[in-house]
Amino acid sequence: MRIANVEVFVAGLSRTPGSGPNCPMVKITTDEGLIGWGNGALSGGEQAVATLIEQHLAPRLIGADPDRVEDTWQLFQRSTYWRAGRVLAGATAAIDIALWDIKGKRAGLPLYSLLGGKSRDKVLCYGHAAGATIDDAVQSVLSYKERGYRAIRAQVATPGYEGGSYGAGGGQGGGGRPAADEHPARRVRTWEPTPYLRAVPQLFERLRQEVGDSVELLHDVHDRLTPIQVAQLARELEPYHLFFLEDPIPVENRDGLRLLREHTTTPIAIGERYSSKYDALPAITGQLIDYVRNGMSKSGGLTELRKIAVLAEPFQVKTAFQGPADIGPLAFAATVHLDLAIPNFGIQEDPHYGADVHELFQGLPHWSDGYFTVSDRPGLGVEVDEARLRQRPYHPFFFPVIRREDGAIQDP
Ligand SMILES: [Mg+2]
Repeated sequence: MRIANVEVFVAGLSRTPGSGPNCPMVKITTDEGLIGWGNGALSGGEQAVATLIEQHLAPRLIGADPDRVEDTWQLFQRSTYWRAGRVLAGATAAIDIALWDIKGKRAGLPLYSLLGGKSRDKVLCYGHAAGATIDDAVQSVLSYKERGYRAIRAQVATPGYEGGSYGAGGGQGGGGRPAADEHPARRVRTWEPTPYLRAVPQLFERLRQEVGDSVELLHDVHDRLTPIQVAQLARELEPYHLFFLEDPIPVENRDGLRLLREHTTTPIAIGERYSSKYDALPAITGQLIDYVRNGMSKSGGLTELRKIAVLAEPFQVKTAFQGPADIGPLAFAATVHLDLAIPNFGIQEDPHYGADVHELFQGLPHWSDGYFTVSDRPGLGVEVDEARLRQRPYHPFFFPVIRREDGAIQDP
């Protein structure tokens, strides 16, 4: 069997222009008519991923053996010479997921079976609750609990800086929807850490009063603090027993993570800004994190994430692979197959795909009572409605720019 054709296009998953996410899609067809689908991801750089695949990687695939998934991964990561930056990691991921899909369809087996079979029957997930005020955020958490979620990430807008807050209900990146006359590329929001540091412990104090210990609670700092600021926050949150505190500081600052660890027992999750096992490895072997969070479509695909899970296992680091909407439906399906198979799974982020996305991608992981399961259909088990998907145009997406009161750039 040989690869006969590789098609690439960027699909906009949302009906609302500019609200994202856009998915760089790959469809690989073999000379025997088997079709594999995958997607990469790079919010704000989706066309770069698609162009890299189309112009530079796809030509090497024509006539290649689709069974050689590992060899193809090595080809793109090593024979392209420059090593994996974010664009190559996303492009490799799309192809890697599509080749695993073909492998599963050829074998007549779901991916979790090819990965060693199930280590669990279902995958614990967490949903995204948020509010503009503490009262709103509490109501949001209660509604998730009522719907059956057993783990809930809670975010609240920073008082006085609602539009610049991360994950507080203002759209991806926390920048809020642009005003009608405001171009999204030039959207600027303001934010300050001090009121944020006061608000978050108040939120979790209220939440434990309202939900007791009946659900797991999580929080995402989104890399906005310094090591000592986040050490203060993590200590203040200890009485509320978070499942984890996510993205405490920018991933480049490994010594900052060490400082944080010396000050708190709040579990730490990090990794959505990693691109590979090489990025994740020092934090794993240094016991600097409790959950590793690489994203399937942003870190080289199933081949790479499987290795990251294996590297983490002896260090008792668990997985919390990233799963926001921009991870892409096919990458999300591949992630849940992996979650089912690995022994050191921790938790899975819920991308909250609506009925619309489920119609475009039939057979996506099924949510019930706080857990995801997959079907036993071969490969990813997902049927892509290609005709309709190709009618979903790409709309440029821009993360909002976050600045401090004095005008200086702040991590978004
Ligand atoms: Mg995060």
